[in-house]
Amino acid sequence: MHPFPTRLALIIAAATILVVELGLMLLLQGYGLTVLEEALIASLALILLALPALYVTLLRPLREQVSQRQGAEQALRESEDRNREILDAVFDGILITDERGVIEQTNPAAARIFGYTREELTGRNLEALIPESERARHAERMRSYLHEGRARVIGLDREIRGRRKDGSLIPIEIAITELWRDDRRHFVGVLRDITARRQAEAALREAQQALERRVAERTEELTRINLALQQEIEARARMQAELERLATTDTLTGIRNRRVFDEQLALEITRAKRYGNKLALILMDIDRFKSINDRHGHQAGDRVLVELARVVASRLRASEVFARWGGEEFIVLAPNTDAEDAAHLAEEIRTRVEAHDFPEVGRVTLSLGVTQYAPEDTTDSLWQRADAALYRAKAGGRNRVEVELA
Ligand code: GH3
Ligand code: MG
Ligand code: MG
Repeated sequence: MHPFPTRLALIIAAATILVVELGLMLLLQGYGLTVLEEALIASLALILLALPALYVTLLRPLREQVSQRQGAEQALRESEDRNREILDAVFDGILITDERGVIEQTNPAAARIFGYTREELTGRNLEALIPESERARHAERMRSYLHEGRARVIGLDREIRGRRKDGSLIPIEIAITELWRDDRRHFVGVLRDITARRQAEAALREAQQALERRVAERTEELTRINLALQQEIEARARMQAELERLATTDTLTGIRNRRVFDEQLALEITRAKRYGNKLALILMDIDRFKSINDRHGHQAGDRVLVELARVVASRLRASEVFARWGGEEFIVLAPNTDAEDAAHLAEEIRTRVEAHDFPEVGRVTLSLGVTQYAPEDTTDSLWQRADAALYRAKAGGRNRVEVELA
């Protein structure tokens, strides 16, 4: 509302004053006053009359207006103070720039981050806070943003590098938004120094890598130990196998020795007793071996023993246990076989040996005694019958098979 009367109001007021003035002058007639005196007194009375109206119509609204404006200014100042307090209190740095990047407003956090005072920052171009190597890129980005207009948010939570007053570079996380104020475009950047976070991340990465290295080293060490252990186990197993072989093998001929044979015989007798399995023994002794030794020497005799073992073994099945009983005596344990079948086998062995041409010594013959398992037999009684049969073969002229039954 316009505080002063319009022209029409002025004309009306002037006319009213004139009418009132004339009226007052009319009232003063008859007191013997001159016209000038009447006019002066009427004017004074008019002024006195008009004062309250003047106050009500002009001065009061004016005063109210002034006090209103003062109140508004006070409120604005308070609001600005509050805004500044907020800016001052905020942990993040805040930079408000114009369109060209000139810093218009900032806060202590921003000043602290970049190592400037607030006054030094204000009025400076944003470029001063960007590493030289990245200024061109920043300018290009700004240009393309301004060209494309309001449609895009410039950047939220982007990571950039900032340049402090002392020239050092720091990692910064920044979110930039656009602000329109008084029809002018501004940019508000909220930024945070993430050096500590980066350092923590680097430390974590370093720790992780150290851990991975340790795990790798430990794994390698364990693999090495494991390999050594495995080799040790294998060596031991080989040694064990060799010991076992030595313990169960006759060293000269390579066939089983008497110890294993005894074990096997005991086992087969147990089975024969429990399940009624048949079981036969063939005991054999080289004829006149002493004279072979005498004629060709002890070592040639040894070679005869090796060759004989080979010839006999070649005729036997895997289920039949063939062993050197001692000296030039050999024995066969034939499971699931009776005396008759064992006698056939013994006869075959005899003829094979008889037909075999032993190097150096020529012809070698065997005498064989056969028997079969009978209930109540022990290892001794069974062996003794085989031995008795062998004795009869020797006595009967050698190179022959004899059977002895229980
Ligand atoms: P026979 O059995 O026909 O009655 O006459 P033999 O000459 O074979 O007599 P006997 O079986 O009693 O003699 C065994 C001989 O075998 C005695 C020993 O000199 C010889 N002899 C025993 N063990 C070995 C050995 O490991 N190597 C050699 N070369 N000779 C052995
Ligand atoms: Mg003998
Ligand atoms: Mg003999």
